[in-house]
Amino acid sequence: MALIVQKFGGTSVADTDKIKAVAERVMALSKQGHQMVVVLSAMSGETNRFVNMAQHMQSIPDPREMDVLLSSGEQVTVSLFAMAVKAAGFDAVSLLGDQVKIQTDIMHTKARIKSINADLIKEHLNSGKIVVVAGFQGVTESGDITTLGRGGSDTTAVALAAALEADQCEIFTDVEGVYTTDPNICANARKIDKITYDEMLELASLGAKVLDIRSVGLAKKYKVPIHVRSTFTDTEGTWVVEEDKTMESMLVSGVTYSKNEARITFAKVPDTPGIASRIFNPISDAGIVVDMIIQNTRAGDMTDMTFTVPRTDYETAMKVVEKTAKEIGAERVSGDPHIAKVSVVGVGMRNHSGIATTMFHILARENINIMMISTSEIKISCVINEKYTELAVRALHDAFELEKENIPIED
Ligand code: ADP
Ligand code: ASP
Ligand code: MG
Repeated sequence: MALIVQKFGGTSVADTDKIKAVAERVMALSKQGHQMVVVLSAMSGETNRFVNMAQHMQSIPDPREMDVLLSSGEQVTVSLFAMAVKAAGFDAVSLLGDQVKIQTDIMHTKARIKSINADLIKEHLNSGKIVVVAGFQGVTESGDITTLGRGGSDTTAVALAAALEADQCEIFTDVEGVYTTDPNICANARKIDKITYDEMLELASLGAKVLDIRSVGLAKKYKVPIHVRSTFTDTEGTWVVEEDKTMESMLVSGVTYSKNEARITFAKVPDTPGIASRIFNPISDAGIVVDMIIQNTRAGDMTDMTFTVPRTDYETAMKVVEKTAKEIGAERVSGDPHIAKVSVVGVGMRNHSGIATTMFHILARENINIMMISTSEIKISCVINEKYTELAVRALHDAFELEKENIPIED
């Protein structure tokens, strides 16, 4: 008998028939004697629908109320799932974040899990129930509902697997695993059988939304192997695991893109000590994470500062920076919410030169202008106009021949 945590994403529970099908899948394992903990997302499209409705009410929706709204989608799916299980003669119980107790900090809409009380889940499992937990939500110490950031149900699943010391943690989705790039935009994308936590962290941080980055961070910390696989087939998916010596280091493991990006530029700010801190402190105080930063040199005592923020935080960030611009005497502050970041990722890049050059060459060949560049030892990212994203991803995937089987690195 194993304790198995399975998470099903929005497309897997998109309507009542799909919820019934997922319940069948879970009950089949329960019949074999396994203890089942199921984590569900909201039906696909629901969370986006809530975001749009909120924006009709308030241009920057109140974060606390936003979480009350956003968390409601998962309440629907877990209750329907429990009903489907009971209708089939099995026992189930649905639990919301505050019932489990998934305690978080108070950063509404992007809260972090602080602790999980596994007792109630264990009690229900021991009394023979299938436990179905609402993904993506938690509760603050004072009892307010929080959500964990978009895609956060993955994080709920991994956190529960860690807290319950589960034997298996499976993330079911609408593709067969983690691919060399998004299989929905590149027909040549290849499924990766096994990937290290570090590579997956890098892919997820750069936009491969198949796994929420925080779920990968937690999996690495608590050594939870994750099996990412399809809800609609029985095919083996991708294992996200610790690095082992037998794994081949890939020169390039994937191409990612993120459209959740926006650019902000301060033009002509005084080039004096402390200016970066005066620009970035208020942004960080607003809970916004800045990604790429470029400071230009200008002749004289003025400089330009350009950086990116998540597009979802763009309007809040613009309000903050407009105030800062006045305070520090910047000539102008401007922004562009229609950019995308395209990245090439691979641990093998550490010891190889030429990847960046190839990337720049391919983008130039496709006539795509690069607005910003950032590099680390295992990735190169370029900011481009959003409308060229798919073209860039396909061209880079082709150029690095990622459709071919692993290219091991020889030193
Ligand atoms: P779920 O609702 O099941 O959580 P998501 O939409 O969050 O599913 O994640 C699955 C999607 O991630 C896929 O449909 C695919 O379009 C996208 N994706 C982006 N990059 C990758 C990648 N490298 N491998 C697999 N899927 C990817
Ligand atoms: N429903 C939430 C979202 O759409 C959480 C999730 O699906 O993981 O972001
Ligand atoms: Mg997801």
